[in-house]
Amino acid sequence: MTNTQKNTQKNTQKNTQKNTQKNTQKNTQPDAQRDPGRKTLSVLISGASVAGPALAHWLHRHGFEATIVERAPALRDGGYAVDFRGDAHLAVLRRMGLLDAVRRARTGVGSMSYVNAAGKPVAKLPADLFAGDVEILRGDLARILYDETSPYTEYLFGDSVTSLTEDAHGVSVTFERGAPRRFDLVVGADGLHSTTRRLAFGPEEDFVRHLGVYCAIFTTANHLGLDHTGHAYRTANRMVAMYSARHNAEAKAVFYFGSQDLDVDRRDVARQQALLSEKFAGGGWQSDRLLNDMRHAPDFYFDSVSQVRMDSWSRGRVALLGDAAYCPSSLSGMGSGLALVGAYVLAGELAAAGGDHTVAFARYEREMRAYAEGCQKMGDGVAGFMVPGSRFAAAALNRYFKLLPYLPGKNMAARIARRTAENITLREYPAA
Ligand SMILES: Cc1cc2nc3c(=O)[nH]c(=O)nc-3n(C[C@H](O)[C@H](O)[C@H](O)COP(=O)(O)OP(=O)(O)OC[C@H]3O[C@@H](n4cnc5c(N)ncnc54)[C@H](O)[C@@H]3O)c2cc1C
Repeated sequence: MTNTQKNTQKNTQKNTQKNTQKNTQKNTQPDAQRDPGRKTLSVLISGASVAGPALAHWLHRHGFEATIVERAPALRDGGYAVDFRGDAHLAVLRRMGLLDAVRRARTGVGSMSYVNAAGKPVAKLPADLFAGDVEILRGDLARILYDETSPYTEYLFGDSVTSLTEDAHGVSVTFERGAPRRFDLVVGADGLHSTTRRLAFGPEEDFVRHLGVYCAIFTTANHLGLDHTGHAYRTANRMVAMYSARHNAEAKAVFYFGSQDLDVDRRDVARQQALLSEKFAGGGWQSDRLLNDMRHAPDFYFDSVSQVRMDSWSRGRVALLGDAAYCPSSLSGMGSGLALVGAYVLAGELAAAGGDHTVAFARYEREMRAYAEGCQKMGDGVAGFMVPGSRFAAAALNRYFKLLPYLPGKNMAARIARRTAENITLREYPAA
């Protein structure tokens, strides 16, 4: 465990203890019932990554109270970078007062190259295609959001919701570890494999669409001396890449491989790493070196590249946000921007409706649905593009990228991504 991780765990545990103490002194009734004259709501948010803390920020700005429960024992580091592009993403960050902090932490990674087995660049991809206007490590973004919200948000780390029982006045919630509690509303911001979604809407298979690719990411040494850039090596059905991170002080190793749905326990890191070794051992370029580094990596993220498609994002007093509701796939480059916009709209509509969730949840969906579906379209075709099924297709793609800078439509993909990310008119929601 790195020092940063140790400190994070210590701090988040301290915070959890402090908050738990504070809350055992609290009434277990939802706020709206405790003080009917006060227009406030108590909202339980499941998930402390991007969507959850962003929602807590806006709920606080509108005079509502948020509690966040996160399954991990401390704030989760890890992952590679997430992108923000276009006016809507930047406007929400600006309105949150976080745009400067995000810009200060930007990766500054420029163009990236596809390399051959000897590591020689064979094609270059321009930065704006995959980095947007601001690119930031996902862990840094989660940290910025946590630091901003923790002074006024109750964080419960190392716990998970186990049941939700709704009545006319609120939701009774039971937890794996903590005592049962009551809240006015519950929001699932617990990602692709959302527990909230399973409890309130049904099994994951009904909503999650696997796009045929798996992805693994971990932090490693920048032993190639990459200077604000990335190198990727693509063969049939596989891609392995290394990107410099933290201004070249370290690097992120990224593996993609094509596969139908695999029966791998999401929490079984040993099994996931063994699987990656089976797929990539002897795979050329830096594969073996990175597989070896993986065993000592301070973080490890492994998941399918999937989308979430739902007919409705709320049921009674429970709503879903971010990847839990409309994951566009980690290859779309849209997940975090979409989650931030969704948090802004959801909290804003709750405020605009005076806390009436029946009105607010319907409006949240009306404002967001077309936008979210547009972002999902961006994720649709990318999987086959990233990990082509044959050696022939991989070589053809490398040739295409080699020619791209000279083709008339060279900026088209970046333009489409920007247009998609901007395809929403943000309402103004006056803060409380
Ligand atoms: C560790 C990690 C690394 C990632 N790396 C990348 C990346 O490199 N590139 C990229 O584009 N996207 C990455 N993502 C996904 C990206 O963060 C999301 O697509 C996007 O930011 C939307 O975020 P979200 O908050 O909706 O969901 P997520 O970021 O998936 O967050 C969900 C949160 O809910 C928590 N959670 C899950 N189940 C429960 C439960 N039962 N109870 C309480 N909490 C629960 C998870 O631990 C997590 O903190 C990563 C996500 C994670 C968690």
